[in-house]
Amino acid sequence: MGWIRVDQILDTLFPPACLLCGQRATGSSPGIPACAGCLDDLPWLPDLPGGTPALGGLDQGRPHLEPFAAVRCALTYEYPVDRLIAAAKFGRQLTVARGLGQLLAWRLPALPHPPDAVVPVPLHWRREASRGFNQAEEIARALCEARRWPLRTDLCRRILPTPEQSGLGAARRQENLRGAFALAGVRALGRCRHVLLVDDVLTTGATAAEVAGLFRAAGVPELSLWTVAWTRPPAQLTERKV
Ligand SMILES: [Zn+2]
Repeated sequence: MGWIRVDQILDTLFPPACLLCGQRATGSSPGIPACAGCLDDLPWLPDLPGGTPALGGLDQGRPHLEPFAAVRCALTYEYPVDRLIAAAKFGRQLTVARGLGQLLAWRLPALPHPPDAVVPVPLHWRREASRGFNQAEEIARALCEARRWPLRTDLCRRILPTPEQSGLGAARRQENLRGAFALAGVRALGRCRHVLLVDDVLTTGATAAEVAGLFRAAGVPELSLWTVAWTRPPAQLTERKV
């Protein structure tokens, strides 16, 4: 007989409330705090071989994604995903952040090579202190628990408190980030051959690319990027505004 985890027993006795509608989340996938109906209604991206569709990103206003062997996002950044991410980020809702990580683990397929290190995109300590936690880290933590991957929050630090990226164009974002991150020493990196970066939203990819560039320079040959959601390619956003 296999072992039954205490949290599974608790989930059966007291099913968690759905993050979206507040009803008891029965009948959903194990570990995901959302009911089956709400899960079905989320703006899922179809999963295609080679990554997120139309993420063509490389040629659609996301030149920053070049360092990554695989880029995958589960959802489109629109209602209600935008609300969930805002709740995790600014509303100090740890359960929501963890739930988003469980969604990633449930939805995204296996990687060709499991990562040696899962690295959440770090916040500067001052911003982390004011938010209560780093949402990317909590998303990555839930993902790592589900997939049994090694979470490494010690490998990369944000050393400059750069201003919020939103509202900046792609070029300004990259400029804004120069020197913002630092890696731990070679010894901490050890024999990392594949680093998976995790973040909440993929916009231009500038932040992830800045971190990826450091790992690449430190000799890590394979980099992947997973985010909960993606915004439509910046080119499309501009077109829609006109
Ligand atoms: Zn629901």
